Amino acid sequence: MSDCIFCKIANGEIPVNVVYEDDRILSFHDADPQAPVHVLIIPKKHIPTMDDVTEEDGELIAHIMLKVKDIAKELGLNNGYRLVNNCGEDGFQTVKHLHFHLLGKRRMTWPPG
Ligand code: 5GP
Ligand code: ZN
Repeated sequence: MSDCIFCKIANGEIPVNVVYEDDRILSFHDADPQAPVHVLIIPKKHIPTMDDVTEEDGELIAHIMLKVKDIAKELGLNNGYRLVNNCGEDGFQTVKHLHFHLLGKRRMTWPPG
């Protein structure tokens, strides 16, 4: 998707502070952090939202989920963290390229706002 900001980040057109990268996924610091540690984890493949994930994406999504603990450890989140996906309008998703927020180093509240 040529006009997608996260596709541009994934292909290096827009520079970010990278935390983890491999051939399928990228993790980088959020530009507007909502916690002392706030990174995003994205597939390099353009998938708009969680609603658009298919069976074919199963391994990719599993790969992201399996990397979460490694990224959390790398960032020193040894007292827990929150992993969030905002989906669609009610989920307040602002960037329509699938991503997971990993937030930590502060005590979260529940329910979320
Ligand atoms: P959403 O609201 O879609 O769940 O989350 C989008 C996130 O992407 C927001 O937390 C926002 O701060 C972050 N973001 C948007 N544009 C950029 C950017 O160009 N660089 C970085 N590092 N983060 C971005
Ligand atoms: Zn995209």
